[in-house]
Amino acid sequence: MSRCVKGWYVNTVQMPKIAVFGGTFNPVHWGHLLIAETAIDQFQLDRVIWVPTFRSPHKAQALLAFDHRLEMVQRAIADQPAFTVSAIEGQRQGLSYASATLNTLQALEPEAHWYWIMGNDAFQSLPKWYASESLMAQCTWLVAPRSELNDIDQQEDDLGRDRLSRDGTSSEQSIALCQASQPPLSFSSQLHWHRLQLPLLGISSTLIRQRCQEGHSIRYLVPESVRCYITRQNLYQMS
Ligand code: ATP
Repeated sequence: MSRCVKGWYVNTVQMPKIAVFGGTFNPVHWGHLLIAETAIDQFQLDRVIWVPTFRSPHKAQALLAFDHRLEMVQRAIADQPAFTVSAIEGQRQGLSYASATLNTLQALEPEAHWYWIMGNDAFQSLPKWYASESLMAQCTWLVAPRSELNDIDQQEDDLGRDRLSRDGTSSEQSIALCQASQPPLSFSSQLHWHRLQLPLLGISSTLIRQRCQEGHSIRYLVPESVRCYITRQNLYQMS
């Protein structure tokens, strides 16, 4: 589409804004949904592609079968048309590397502006990810605060608010954030990141698995469609 400005035709077609939301989603919970919805709202994203991890290089825990986790994500996102799910990591099998996933997705829509959504705990570990230096520069990072692990607010206080603006666009700022809990790093890549503005959510998949095993209710911690699936399939019970 184009419009005429002072005799010149200006191309007004906007680049689509697409975010990847990767995770084990074991199971998906309301925290994940609120983070993804906040990202859409705050950054006017066109789409969020949920990408369940097949096998995480970062988590030692045994994961529930990929197909169950995929099914639960499908059920959880069914009523939000801007959410889609990709089984790309299940199709690839083996360890799930974000760089491989992003390369494949970006090749499908090279004209899009790409984002990656994650919690602060995952953001802290980003420098340790496979091919992290190129990965960091490959998209814009949208970081949700996470309370129990590493509180961004506390880190900002520790580091001094003049050094860390709330929305960072330089690698120095983000590296400073990472350095708050990581050994010194020597990354030179440009890293663009923004903080997602949402309340701290003390909810995790670990909590939900524990509650299932102990026979406690998980109602209102996960979407009802996910809770029913967990109950019907008898998931997360003591073996
Ligand atoms: P587990 O408890 O099994 O480690 P999890 O709750 O962290 O799982 P993941 O599927 O590993 O869930 O998370 C996917 C992404 O969502 C990660 O980047 C994680 O940091 C982020 N995330 C999950 N829960 C929250 C939360 N309550 N607040 C902020 N970020 C979160």
